[in-house]
This record gives sequence, C-alpha cells and structure tokens, in this order.
Amino acid sequence: MKTALIFGITGQDGSFLADFLLKKSYKLIGVTRDAQRGFFPNLKRLGIKNKIEFVSASIHDFRSVLQIVAKYEPNEIYNLAGQSSVALSFEQPVETFESISVANLNLLEVIRFLNIPIKYFNAGSSDCFGNTNGKAVSETDAFRPRSPYGVAKASACWQGVTYREAYNIFACTGILFNHESYLRPERFVTRKIVKTACRIANGSDEKLLLGNISIERDWGWAPEYVEAMWAMLQQEEPDDYIIATGETYSLEDFITAVFETLNLDWHDHVRSDKGLLRPTDIQTIRADPGKAESVLGWRATYKTKDVARLMVEAELERVS
Ligand code: NDP
Repeated sequence: MKTALIFGITGQDGSFLADFLLKKSYKLIGVTRDAQRGFFPNLKRLGIKNKIEFVSASIHDFRSVLQIVAKYEPNEIYNLAGQSSVALSFEQPVETFESISVANLNLLEVIRFLNIPIKYFNAGSSDCFGNTNGKAVSETDAFRPRSPYGVAKASACWQGVTYREAYNIFACTGILFNHESYLRPERFVTRKIVKTACRIANGSDEKLLLGNISIERDWGWAPEYVEAMWAMLQQEEPDDYIIATGETYSLEDFITAVFETLNLDWHDHVRSDKGLLRPTDIQTIRADPGKAESVLGWRATYKTKDVARLMVEAELERVS
C-alpha cells in the first residue's frame, strides 16, 4: 500500500485528489493548517472524511513539515496548499509568496534533508505565463507573470527544476490552467456566476456584478485534473506538464452557457462593477496540453461549456 501526504487536502483539488487516491487504495495523510477545527465540508460532501488521517502543519514552517514527513515517510507528496486567489494576492502579496513559494522551497528542502525517495508534486499555474497574445503556450515558453500570485507560482516552478537538476529530487510541477467544480469557493468568479444565476432562476431579483467579462481562459473540470497530478508521479522521470483542455473561451461565453442552461438571458441579469477590476489582469491565455497527452496519456474530456453545465446541475441539486 502506498502512502500519500496531501498538503491542502481541505481545498477543491485536495478533496478530489483524496477521493481519487482512496479509490486506488492509498493510505492518505491529509495536512491542514488546523486539523482540530474538524470542519471539512468538501471531504464530507464527497463522503470520504472518515477515511483520512489528518495532521496539522504550517506548510512554510520547516520544523512542522519535517516532523510529518519524517514520521510517515510517504511515497508521494502532493502540494496543493497555499493562498490560491489571484485577486487576493494583490491584497496579501507577502502571505501569497510565503504560502506558495517559500512553502514549496520548504518542502523541497525537507525532502532533500531526509534523503528519502519521495515523489513530489507541486501545483503550478497558468498565471506564470501572463499575457501570451493569443499564442498557445507550451512548457518551454517563458514566464511573464502579472500578479503577486503568478510571481510566486513562477518562482516555485523554477525551484522544482533546480532541485531536480541539482539534487536529483523527483519533483514535478503541474502548470494547471483554471479548473472548476461544485467545490470551488464563491470568491472565484465561476462559482459566483453559477450560484447567483441559480438564485435568479429560483426567483431572486438580484443582479450579478462582474468585472472584466472579456477575459479569455481555459476552464476544465477539476476531478479530471487530479488524475493528471497522479499520472506525473507514476512516470520514470520527473518533469513539468501543462494541464489544460486546449480550448479557450471568454468569461462572457461562460456566463452565456450558465444562463442558457437555466433558460435565462444573461443580459437581463448581469451588471458591470468597476470595483471588481484587478490592478493588472491577463487578457487571454491559451494552452497547448500536447505533452500531457503524449507522455501521460491524459486528456480533458470536459470543456468549458460542459463545466458550466455540470456546475449548474450540481448547484441546483445542492439547493434542492
Ligand atoms: P483551494 O483554495 O481550494 O485550497 C487550497 C488549500 O490551501 C486550502 O484548503 C487551505 O487549506 C490551504 N491554504 C489556503 N490559504 C493558505 C495560506 N495562506 N497558507 C497556507 N495554506 C493555505 O485551492 P484549489 O484546490 O483550487 O487549488 C489547489 C492548488 O492548485 C493551489 O495551489 C492553487 O493555487 C493551484 N491552482 C489551482 C487552479 C484552479 O483553477 N483551481 C489553477 C491553477 C493553480 P487549510 O485551510 O486546510 O490549511
């Protein structure tokens, strides 16, 4: 039986990954900042909370991470923890950098220090690339991040490359493009759109306030993305992979798909709010996920419009 440590197990990806690994008969240790809180809504919703052993650790604290890794000697570590909101990173840049970049370095140092053959996955981000002017980026394209979050993710990705090359550590980064689900918190725009549109469909007369709806992203279905994370750690050699659907849509397209699923015209319900614009934003991001398909055999089944429909269906079911 393999043992996996998941940092960030209470989040969207951590919960889906836990579900996936349990089905593969892994022993799971879930790391959260405060396991005593005992409030794990995502894991409860998936019905798996009682199958996981929880431990508390601050991911950027060397001693607390060292103790846990030394105690469990896991075969695999998945780092899905950290401040994950681009918008919030403009308000909390230091916390964002520490929880993403310093934390990643901390984990790499612990693995190096213990000298145990652990396979390590780090959650990278498409925000590393910044604006790509419509080009479909691959793993060899340069990073030009445009937010404190993107800068922290870019730094973490290069730390992984360095530790791979300098110390032969099995470190992989998944350069993850946006992936959504019914476990996304409402501060993320896709879930906000879905929840508000469902309330409107159920009779609410509120307006949906949004910032820039012309931005273009590649939105996939989160449960599929955790399969790619696992696949990276099953390879003979560590490497970094773009994980994306390969199709880009505007936020307006996503809004349209959500409201059409509910038989509504979004123009009647959406209003622009300049207060929601970011200091700097990425206009368009486009991905070439060809390496993941050819090496890992991974390919996204669900594209953006499927994601919108699946999220609406899950929300209607949750409310009813
Ligand atoms: P979530 O925000 O849902 O979960 C992240 C978890 O990290 C939280 O549950 C929390 O766990 C912990 N966390 C939150 N803030 C901090 C902090 N300041 N310091 C330390 N720990 C913190 O993220 P996702 O599951 O959506 O994403 C997983 C990873 O993938 C993240 O690193 C994210 O940046 C990255 N990513 C996600 C994308 C997406 O579209 N979802 C796209 C690209 C990258 P707890 O409170 O239990 O400690």
